[in-house]
Amino acid sequence: MPEHEEPAPLPLRWVEELVNTRNVEDGSDELADPAALAAWFVGRGLLPAGAPVDEAGRARAAQVREGLRALIAANNGGEPPSPAAEGEAGSPEGAGSPDGGAAVADGVEPGALDALARTAPGLALVLELGSGRPRLVPAHPGTVDGALAALLAAVAEAVADGSWARLKACREPGCRWAYYDHSRNRSRAWCSMAVCGNRAKARAFRRRGR
Ligand SMILES: [Zn+2]
Repeated sequence: MPEHEEPAPLPLRWVEELVNTRNVEDGSDELADPAALAAWFVGRGLLPAGAPVDEAGRARAAQVREGLRALIAANNGGEPPSPAAEGEAGSPEGAGSPDGGAAVADGVEPGALDALARTAPGLALVLELGSGRPRLVPAHPGTVDGALAALLAAVAEAVADGSWARLKACREPGCRWAYYDHSRNRSRAWCSMAVCGNRAKARAFRRRGR
């Protein structure tokens, strides 16, 4: 995965980093237990050191993460390209298996958006008026739900300032890495042209060659 890239501006960067705590490709998860989640939030100033984090909180964080992945995948051209739809000129044996192997599972989990929609009402925000520009802040700071609410506030802020459309999940279903699209016309489809872009190109080439 491209580590050298310029990330999204804060606070949207937290969303990008949260999504990338699960690596779809190798199955690793940086937030696999409550202690790891606590360290992740504390490291970003979203939670004070020593704040209690339980398994239920970790599970909610994972739900929020996967819902956000689904949302930023939608920022990247909606549905991933369908090999079946594009392969009609090819031979029948290529239709279900564009890589010549097993179909790649989509890193965007089915039902992830519904799960986020169920979790979000518990992540309360209030309008803070005391410090200049009014802004949404967690109603329960110092808790996991407060930290997750801060991430949702970052989404709302990014939608308002237009930067949200630049946060994307890689179009490659087996990757779905989050990245911030700095390109002028917001046209970047893959986390890395060298890796995922070339995979998609190779598939298209094999289809044309049949
Ligand atoms: Zn990718």
